[in-house]
Amino acid sequence: MATASPATDRSHRAAKRYIYAWGEGTAEGNAGMRDLLGGKGAGLAEMTIAGLPTPPGFTITTEACNDYFAAGEQLPDGLWDDVLDAVKEVERRTAKGFGDPANPLLVSVRSGAKFSMPGMMDTVLNLGLNAKTLEGLITLTGNERFGWDAYRRFIQMFGRIVLDVDGEQFDHALEASKSAHGAKQDTDLDAAALRGLVDDFRGIVKASTGRDFPEDPYEQLDLAIKAVFASWFGKRARDYRKNQGIADDLGTAVNVVTMVFGNMGDDSGTGVAFTRDPNTGERVLYGEYLTNAQGEDVVAGIRTAPKIAQMETDMPAVYAEFQRIGQQLERHYRDVQDLEFTIERGRLYMLQTRSAKRTAAAAVRIAADMVDEGVISKEEAVARIEPAHVDQLLRDQFDPAGLKAAVRIAKGLNASPGAAVGRAVFSADTAVEWVERGEKVVLVRVETSPDDFHGMAVAQGILTARGGATSHAAVVARQIGKPCVAGCAELVVEYSTKSARSTESGVAFAEGDWISLDGATGTVYQGALPTVSARFEDQPELRKVLGWADEIRRMGVWTNADKPEEAAQARGYGAEGIGLCRTEHMFREGERLEIVRDAILVANAATRAKAKIAAGEPVDAEETATIERFDSAMAKLEVLQQGDFEGIFRAMDGLPVVIRLIDPPLHEFLPNLEEQLVKVTRAEDAGGASEADKELLATIKSLHEQNPMLGLRGCRLGLMIPDFVKIQTRAILNAQIAVKRSGGNPIAKIMIPLVGHVNELSRTRALLEAEAKAVEAAAGRVKVDYKFGTMIEVPRGALTADEIARDADFFSFGTNDLTQMTFGYSRDDAEGGFLLKYVEDGILPVNPFQTLDDAVAGLMKMAVDKGRATKPGLELGICGEHGGDPASIAKCEAIGLDYVSCSPFRVPVARLAAAQAALASAAERDK
Ligand code: ADP
Ligand code: MG
Ligand code: MG
Repeated sequence: MATASPATDRSHRAAKRYIYAWGEGTAEGNAGMRDLLGGKGAGLAEMTIAGLPTPPGFTITTEACNDYFAAGEQLPDGLWDDVLDAVKEVERRTAKGFGDPANPLLVSVRSGAKFSMPGMMDTVLNLGLNAKTLEGLITLTGNERFGWDAYRRFIQMFGRIVLDVDGEQFDHALEASKSAHGAKQDTDLDAAALRGLVDDFRGIVKASTGRDFPEDPYEQLDLAIKAVFASWFGKRARDYRKNQGIADDLGTAVNVVTMVFGNMGDDSGTGVAFTRDPNTGERVLYGEYLTNAQGEDVVAGIRTAPKIAQMETDMPAVYAEFQRIGQQLERHYRDVQDLEFTIERGRLYMLQTRSAKRTAAAAVRIAADMVDEGVISKEEAVARIEPAHVDQLLRDQFDPAGLKAAVRIAKGLNASPGAAVGRAVFSADTAVEWVERGEKVVLVRVETSPDDFHGMAVAQGILTARGGATSHAAVVARQIGKPCVAGCAELVVEYSTKSARSTESGVAFAEGDWISLDGATGTVYQGALPTVSARFEDQPELRKVLGWADEIRRMGVWTNADKPEEAAQARGYGAEGIGLCRTEHMFREGERLEIVRDAILVANAATRAKAKIAAGEPVDAEETATIERFDSAMAKLEVLQQGDFEGIFRAMDGLPVVIRLIDPPLHEFLPNLEEQLVKVTRAEDAGGASEADKELLATIKSLHEQNPMLGLRGCRLGLMIPDFVKIQTRAILNAQIAVKRSGGNPIAKIMIPLVGHVNELSRTRALLEAEAKAVEAAAGRVKVDYKFGTMIEVPRGALTADEIARDADFFSFGTNDLTQMTFGYSRDDAEGGFLLKYVEDGILPVNPFQTLDDAVAGLMKMAVDKGRATKPGLELGICGEHGGDPASIAKCEAIGLDYVSCSPFRVPVARLAAAQAALASAAERDK
């Protein structure tokens, strides 16, 4: 098929060439001209060049649309003359006359932007009909009923779409006529009934517009073209573009296409079909068609349309031709096509072709199949899959069989994919209470706020009545991997009665009722629907495509995992290492918290006493006892932590494990100040608080900080109270020795957080290397090996990365802190407060905690360059949450990081995104 047939010259009166025509096997446009001709126009031109049967017509360009608005909603000078010329050409090609009563040419007027877009003007069919041309149409076809049906459709469509008449009035009139004539379906109305309906419709138009329905075909055309342009700035279209980030200045094209009639009898028909099943990806024609019907009937579901396979029985020759055309178009566009066609008295016409929308499962299967069929390359397959698709495939889904029988409550926005089943609760506190007693819940709110987070975290899914795709509920749900249906406007949620009701379906539910949410479609169902779990192991096509992604990507994909189970899961998903193992939980769980608290109570005193000893000063008995109490707690912790690290090393055998030394401020391991104060005060009132409680309170007070996130944490903590990081270092290295002894291959990397000045790192390093030497000395013949590195998460650290690199073998960008500190936001306060509003109002383009901000990325780039200047082999990664976000991964590729690290369930997405980033930057280089 030819793609680049040069546009033939077309003389024009307008200052620019605004019109591209097609017909008789040639076209002035082609598939490459989507910007100018829109998707529909480009597709029609391309199909015509390819020799496929299309009805002749022409496209008025998107540029005309933009100039129309630039001129204050006036057709550019000369354009109308050019339209008249183009109509003449269509008349010649079809041997019919526009407005000719003897042999009338009828056309459809169709909007068509570059991207197929809801909110654009609906198509008007049968334009050119009036009382006179109708007679001609009836004489020519010998079918009176057909003529009157075409005419009433035209008045109905033109009235609603172009003249803005309330469409329901026509529907009511149609229903009234049907019941008056005892007709069940539209097709049961005879010519006389339709003729009566035409009168009714004209009356409706007159009453609501104050004028007669336009008879002159040219006036009809003029109004329809302007209506298409106007729809570009209609509210729905504008909202959609805003939501999808589509530019306002693309404009829409207008397509004027010779009508072909699928409603001329049983040898005629119309349909929509996909070249493969868009749900499963199976390679079969998938679609519906209706005999004796016009285009909109299939889509509107006026009659239940049979499956396309029925056409094979009804019209075998046409079906075979259609199948051949489908395959040809698929090969040509190298993608699954969504086709619209009409059969007029046994002749097939193609009316539209475009790349088909598809489910995640279909996207992956089609991509994999097309590589196997030799249609596309592995690179194309990888580039074509949306990261969201991968995410979706790893979430539980509803069993399709169960969905069919399900009662639908409502539909909202598909904010975060996955299937959630639970009992409805209407507050976050209730969610937590119910979950604690073993229930599964779905949290239903009008909208969510940060105060609801605890409820969202324990719920199976989240349902809100208000808020869009960037609402709090949607953003948080995606982040924590929960299904979410947001902005379900038809749902009236009542907190007072703990119930909700859909104004559309009328279905209601109350607290405790089971409901099911499909976050992929935005649908809410009654009851507990059966789900099927989406096991990665059971998805060979996905694994195949991700395998190709692995061949393509440059960056490694590691994971953030704190426990052996998480590490194992991530490894199953393809993680190539641990980029961040947080050790905090090792201080918190079970018996440990008590031990840690015990140590913290005396940590400062013991550290001071130890310093005295180191300086050769005497210590008293109390100090000696303090040191003993501290050391004995630390020794217990060391043993426990060593066990933890052995588990992680075993799960990640042979792969690098970056372990971050303790990061949070110590107060996080102690009870909350207010609670302890209340406890002690109450106890005092009741006769006296225990010494232990009073000591604890005193410690909490002494550790209290105004801004703990900017206080004694990270490497600062290690420098002030070195024992915490010393025992961690010993535990890591002794774990390594133990695993090596049992035949494993543990690869240890010790990471020091929150470094802002090189001295912080060099001092810490000296401290820890002394421990390492001691461990090594005790290890005998087993070789202890490890690397020291740091997190770059304080802006000063990034600015002085050249100095810091002297003492680090690797950098890992902690972009959560780096974003906080670069913006000067406290994340918890910002996301809970003004940040979402900032994004909504466009003050910030995106939430910088979700997608890496360019300035933060710039800071990283500086650190990368400075770090590598000092140490060319410096290993560079990212371990902030951005490491699992595709847009951020693209920035990491551009910066030149060696790997990204993300939570286990994001690993497959990151593998794909990293490959896509590599492809994009290769394309960039080729430019
Ligand atoms: P949409 O963008 O909503 O798909 P289309 O312009 O493709 O709008 O058309 C809507 C319906 O009208 C489709 O079923 C299409 O096949 C039919 N249609 C459009 N133009 C013609 C035509 N010239 N002859 C017959 N049917 C048409
Ligand atoms: Mg269409
Ligand atoms: Mg940090």
